Amino acid sequence: MKTVRTAQSTILAAVTVFKSESVKCTESLGRILAEDVLSNRNHPPYDISAMDGYAVIYDDIDGATKESPAVLKIIDDIKAGDAPKVTLTTGTASRIMTGAPIPEGADTVIRVEDTDCNETDAKILIPSKKGSNIRLLGENLRTDDLVLTKGTDIGPAELGILAMVKKALVEVYRRPRVAILSSGDELEGLDDPFDERKIPDANTYTVMAEMQAIGIEPVLLGIARDNPGELKDKLKEGLECDALIVSGGVSVGHHDFVRPTLKELGVEIDFWRVALRPGHPFAFGRRAEGNKLIFALPGNPVSSMVCAEEFIIPAMRKMMGAVNLFRKTITVRLGEDVKDKVGRTHFMRSHLSVNESGEQTLKLTGSQGSGILMSMVTADALLVMPAECSELKAGTLVTAQLLNLNGPGAFQEEPGIKE
Ligand code: AMP
Ligand code: MG
Repeated sequence: MKTVRTAQSTILAAVTVFKSESVKCTESLGRILAEDVLSNRNHPPYDISAMDGYAVIYDDIDGATKESPAVLKIIDDIKAGDAPKVTLTTGTASRIMTGAPIPEGADTVIRVEDTDCNETDAKILIPSKKGSNIRLLGENLRTDDLVLTKGTDIGPAELGILAMVKKALVEVYRRPRVAILSSGDELEGLDDPFDERKIPDANTYTVMAEMQAIGIEPVLLGIARDNPGELKDKLKEGLECDALIVSGGVSVGHHDFVRPTLKELGVEIDFWRVALRPGHPFAFGRRAEGNKLIFALPGNPVSSMVCAEEFIIPAMRKMMGAVNLFRKTITVRLGEDVKDKVGRTHFMRSHLSVNESGEQTLKLTGSQGSGILMSMVTADALLVMPAECSELKAGTLVTAQLLNLNGPGAFQEEPGIKE
């Protein structure tokens, strides 16, 4: 049986990165950059004032106090967007607004609040440090500097930088087409009439949302009953996409037809069990024809969500050219004792809180049954309980994966799980 890490490596080795396409920068939020972006300008383009105040020569105001202010002649009034007309000489100051260029000769800006001024004279009451309140040329962007690298997630700040360097069109990676199918005779679809004896299909929607959260709009194939004919038709339809995700019917039960049917359709199964909890019967396969990836998730709603997190999301992010493939992990102090069976890496639903001493701690959300989808509602992290570990004491530093984050910062380059 594969470990989580070897399963992830097997899957990622099978994934090829998609080609790129050009999109408007205004439509690039959530996409992954497919080019290195250089700055075409200095920003700020010159030294500018960070405050409304007075541009001065520091030597003129050194040691000024309320009792004995430095008194300077105001010789100019510089607004943002203006070009300064005069050079400061000893004993003079220029009134200056935030964002306006620092005039020749000045080396410091004094805030309005630290002065007492009339139209002609500026009394400096408190000298700030030499050089203060000046934003230096190029402190944000420098011409020809690499400002965003290929493989970066585009979030609001990245989008702002694209706009600043005038990239109205930007190269991003194409997104895969992903099909989602649920299987099981007991399942009731969202639009089916309510039947108390049936099990409402959750996996279609949780996995759909997991895909949407990383920028993929999946094709929903609905529910296939546990009969080989119906399953085959639906799986065939799903194989028209780049990736097919099917949940349920992947164990060894008498009515679990997913694996044999996939085989009939030319899918080579790489593995069908992974040493993780929840989600033991998870299968990964490929169809050479058309370079298709197939993920078969266990039916239990928590298992299918966790397997999608651990295996499908990294694969999809690799396809979309991302550098950071894995959910962000943190090291955090455990807030309670945790006992577990050994043998499989256990992703335990947990939530972060701050204890009496102000320290962040992690506690389980409660019962860890793989059918208790409500445990994912209350969770904001997954405690990664190593396979060989049977007990962790309160106070131990543990690894947790952060759930529900989006955009830059939600993912990291290294897997974070050690085996
Ligand atoms: P299976 O993997 O088909 O053996 O299903 C395992 C458990 O998950 C069973 O209790 C199923 O009823 C349940 N299950 C399977 N598919 C879904 C689904 N799409 N939504 C909610 N529960 C499901
Ligand atoms: Mg089933």
